[in-house]
Amino acid sequence: MFKLNINVSDILLTPLACSSLVNEILKGILYQKCQIPYPYDWMKTMVTRKRQKSEIDVKKFNNIKATNHFLLVSSVLDKLETFMQAIEHEFSQCKTNIQEVFIVLGTTPHTANEIISVSFTLVDGHNEKNHISQLNKYRQKILRKLFLSQDWVDKIDASVSCTNVYLYIVKTGDNSNINSDNNSVFVPTIPLTFSTKTKYTKISLKSDTTLDTNCCENLTVFNDLSCNVISKKCDNEETEVNVIWYKYKDLIKGFKECFVNKKSVSESW
Ligand SMILES: [Zn+2]
Repeated sequence: MFKLNINVSDILLTPLACSSLVNEILKGILYQKCQIPYPYDWMKTMVTRKRQKSEIDVKKFNNIKATNHFLLVSSVLDKLETFMQAIEHEFSQCKTNIQEVFIVLGTTPHTANEIISVSFTLVDGHNEKNHISQLNKYRQKILRKLFLSQDWVDKIDASVSCTNVYLYIVKTGDNSNINSDNNSVFVPTIPLTFSTKTKYTKISLKSDTTLDTNCCENLTVFNDLSCNVISKKCDNEETEVNVIWYKYKDLIKGFKECFVNKKSVSESW
């Protein structure tokens, strides 16, 4: 296992900050590990624009290869959007204590080529509205700390081939509170096991500052008293904590760019 500690002291790691960083890290990984051929946000803009195009424009778009590729990109985008919205939802429900998110690349999860996990020390009990500008200001800086770090760059292998991407979340709890919500996109599953040959990178989002007081205490507009306050999570990995693994019910199939006459078909969208 290779451990990468990313200092996030510029922001308060609220549930929203956590889900936002996890989702951005996922987007970055999919592109850098060659599972999507375009940067995520560009892919989303292109698909959205194409979906909004008028009838007439759609008729011009008659190349079957380009059409099929568009449908493929669209479906991957939808699956990822669903996953990321679900992550946001999970983090916002503070009763569910998410410990770690796993991104697994491989034909099957248990024969993975590469695994990247993101863990965090979450701070709860704050009003998200008071911290969102801070998050927006520093998000890119935090992502650069990860994606432009020597340790990360050294591990990028441009020859990675397209494979399946499985997504897991690990929550504290025991079998009695297994989330059996049939509408959830996360299904309880057996813990992920993998061979020692699997490349495993563990990204830890950590703050080196500790808050003694809750800055939102006197500002809180909405205070959900039912939330469990996880002010400081135990960082000692030796501690036995009951966890439940959940797997995203869909899998993402990595794909390459499609060309017609040596031109990217996305240009015809
Ligand atoms: Zn606060």
